[in-house]
Amino acid sequence: MFSEKSKSLTGFKFTDYDCIGFDLDNTLSRYKVGAMIEMEYDIMAKFLVEKKGYSKKHLYKPFDHNFILRGLIVDDENGNILRIAPDGYILQAAHGTKMLQDEEIEKYYPRRHWEISDLFVQDPLTTWNGPYSEKMRTLLDYFDIASSLIFARAIDAVDEQKGQKTGKYEVWLDIQAALQDMFNRDNFQTGAGLYFEKMKANPEKYYYKCSDKLLNWLKLLKKQNKSLFLLTGSHVDFASHTATNTVGPNWRDYFDIVVCFAKKPGFFTLKRDFLKLDGVHEGPAVKLDQLEIGGMYTHGNWTDLHKFLTKHLKKDNPKFLYIGDNLVQDIYTPHIHSHCDTVTVCEELEAEGVQGYHERHPDQHFLVSTFWGSYFTCNKADTNWAFLMKKHSKLCVPSLEYVASLPIDHEYEASDV
Ligand SMILES: [Mg+2]
Repeated sequence: MFSEKSKSLTGFKFTDYDCIGFDLDNTLSRYKVGAMIEMEYDIMAKFLVEKKGYSKKHLYKPFDHNFILRGLIVDDENGNILRIAPDGYILQAAHGTKMLQDEEIEKYYPRRHWEISDLFVQDPLTTWNGPYSEKMRTLLDYFDIASSLIFARAIDAVDEQKGQKTGKYEVWLDIQAALQDMFNRDNFQTGAGLYFEKMKANPEKYYYKCSDKLLNWLKLLKKQNKSLFLLTGSHVDFASHTATNTVGPNWRDYFDIVVCFAKKPGFFTLKRDFLKLDGVHEGPAVKLDQLEIGGMYTHGNWTDLHKFLTKHLKKDNPKFLYIGDNLVQDIYTPHIHSHCDTVTVCEELEAEGVQGYHERHPDQHFLVSTFWGSYFTCNKADTNWAFLMKKHSKLCVPSLEYVASLPIDHEYEASDV
């Protein structure tokens, strides 16, 4: 259901690459996303009610899986949630939980454009940090997707309290505080916050184990002397927990190097030092010539990682590939700033049953939305996310399990892209 046929690139093969990098969360490691999203919603709702004084009536309503959808864009000042086209045109907008009509959209956004989302479509990184990031927030993965419903209900609560739509809202800062409270990396050790405690207490509720087929696919790539690396935003303790519960206790054996807390997309654009690890604690900076095969580090940067792995591969101009699910952190930024080919993992392909994939996702009702419609299209036009995915990745697949069901040297057709 991509509105136009993908670029005519054919012949993509994983075995054409010398070095293949993997994002961990929702890429190599699959989550039981429905259970996790509901859990995240409950934790954030509790935080906003108990710590920030929001109305229970709105925040404690039963979870509405129809409202959430990957890729929603928050306009905090106006209390709106948007979906946009590749040129920034506003396809849909809701104020709180209420969908806006065309004339209402025009009132907020003349000619259906918003200055900040127009900047975003030119370069998503301009709104990632700094002053614009306080006004606009994209909800791109299953760690922050529940925030859209939290935000919309918080706006409904503010409007009800004031008896009108107010001029300017400041709700996002409170939601950001809830996200930070939930995902603060120290919480894994200290037991503060509820998210990591639940993930630790009941891993089988939130993770799928990688199939033997997928593990074998990784082993076959290694046998062909491919260099594999893991590059994740999670800190080392949570990443180890996730990888142990999905890949298995020997997960590190699959990778020549593991980088945790990599702070993507900055990993691809900045020159941060790699830090040595002493258990879960970060130690001193490590120079390029001190990086080791089999090592595990935090922070770091693409330039040094690329040099390190190139040296290890003993090959001129090795070809690099990175596989991830977050379209800004894992796909756009490495492609544009590191000239690295990418593969997008997008579970919605299966949840919506598009491009010939079977509609068989076990948490389909969490990933599809009757409120917004398709993640990929709106009124038959591509969304900005479908555009980004097609423009910046060589291949889009619903999961690595799908890829592992095919031979490692399978040649993908244009329709798979
Ligand atoms: Mg991810």
